[in-house]
Amino acid sequence: MKFVGQQKQGVGWLQRLFSRDDGEPPAKIVVLSRAEHPISRSQMSRNAVKVLNRLNHGGYKAYLVGGGVRDLMLEREPKDFDVATDATPEQVKSLFRNCRLIGRRFRLAHVHFGREIIEVATFRSGQDGAVSEPVQTEKGMILRDNLYGTLEEDAWRRDFTINALYYNIADFSVVDYTGGVRDLEKGQIRMIGDPEQRYHEDPVRMLRAVRFAVKLGFQIEKKTEQPIFKLGSLLEQIPQARLYEEFLKMFQSGQALETFERLRHYDLFRYLFPMTDRMLDQQEGFPHNFLIRALENTDHRVATGKPITPAFLIAALLWEGVRQRAASSTAKHPESGERLPENVRLHHAGRDLLREQRKSLSMPKRFAIMAQEIWELQPRFERRRGRQPYRFMEHPRFRAAYDFLLLRAEVGEIEGEVAEWWTEFQKTNSKEREKMVNEAGGSEKSRRRRRRRKKKPASTS
Ligand code: ATP
Ligand code: MG
Repeated sequence: MKFVGQQKQGVGWLQRLFSRDDGEPPAKIVVLSRAEHPISRSQMSRNAVKVLNRLNHGGYKAYLVGGGVRDLMLEREPKDFDVATDATPEQVKSLFRNCRLIGRRFRLAHVHFGREIIEVATFRSGQDGAVSEPVQTEKGMILRDNLYGTLEEDAWRRDFTINALYYNIADFSVVDYTGGVRDLEKGQIRMIGDPEQRYHEDPVRMLRAVRFAVKLGFQIEKKTEQPIFKLGSLLEQIPQARLYEEFLKMFQSGQALETFERLRHYDLFRYLFPMTDRMLDQQEGFPHNFLIRALENTDHRVATGKPITPAFLIAALLWEGVRQRAASSTAKHPESGERLPENVRLHHAGRDLLREQRKSLSMPKRFAIMAQEIWELQPRFERRRGRQPYRFMEHPRFRAAYDFLLLRAEVGEIEGEVAEWWTEFQKTNSKEREKMVNEAGGSEKSRRRRRRRKKKPASTS
């Protein structure tokens, strides 16, 4: 893959370390000394280093772990820094004033530095029957495993080998129990333990495999990949809000399009957006093109540092369903008996689809409301006369609705002329604007005229 090629140049040190390649994980623990890996404290957040040092000076073991180590090994910039220690959460709390303990399922210490939070977790055993069995559902999903363990146990209960590397602050070495260093070198995502069993324990790991494969440009190792094709339905057990969190990580990463295509490939997408997935299967062309453009657009915004909102993504992902339902609705106004206007039909369709959507993946209310506004505002772009365009531009959701309109125009769902008009209208000066609203849409003019109420005779006023 393209990215692996780029990576490999950057991680020549890894290739030197592993000249042999027999496909099997190393039999025993690998410890890379400071000279054998590229991680230096200067690349870490200063606060993470502070936390590591204070734990270490307090007499505890302290390691950087997870995505932070993985990304630094690949010479990428980590998103966040997680710490693992043998200190209990209470012991961590006693070392830091700015520390809060969170979580009931498994207690974690959050050390706060302004907006940055360093998460400190006590080593976990994963499963240790001696103290108490982890609570599992019939299907083998872990509901509770709040047992502390050793460093080694902590490594084996993690998901993928590349996520189970530990940077030891005591001697600056990197500790690898599961073969993660070699998998980094090979550019592969490999599940620790029996993949099928580990997906049963936590089905979200399937989504994580896809996410890391896309993010790093890695292959998913065969045994790790195979069960994904058949175990997708396990995702039905995952709480809707957790799926939403994963959805954000996957689709706001700057690689939404590639992620979407991979999820479709593994038939996982339907557990996130079932209605959209069905529509994509039934219809060629438009819905697919529209989604591709929307995701490309999101990726481009991320790449150029522009703000993105989950509401826009959700609006795009559900649009075809909303549009079709609104178009086919024959609901009538209870008094006048006329067919409901388009924005009202869109409102009802949006509300119904969101209700349906919430059964699989549910988003916070404010984003659902915003998605609905984006849909409902679409018909307003057709009204281009008088004061209406000026008033519309003042609407807090105008910008999002306009960006959405551009996508629709780009894929030919609506006439390009409408979108061009609005682009021009926003750019131009007030004199030109007046001209534009006067010249806008002839058919619209006659329709509006017909609707206008007759003026009362002057004598009665
Ligand atoms: P990112 O760069 O997206 O933060 P990450 O690997 O740090 O990637 P996190 O979700 O922050 O991902 O999790 C931190 C670490 O916790 C992971 O690297 C992994 O070791 C472990 N972990 C997270 N989720 C799971 C899971 N579902 N099962 C097992 N281990 C997990
Ligand atoms: Mg992380």
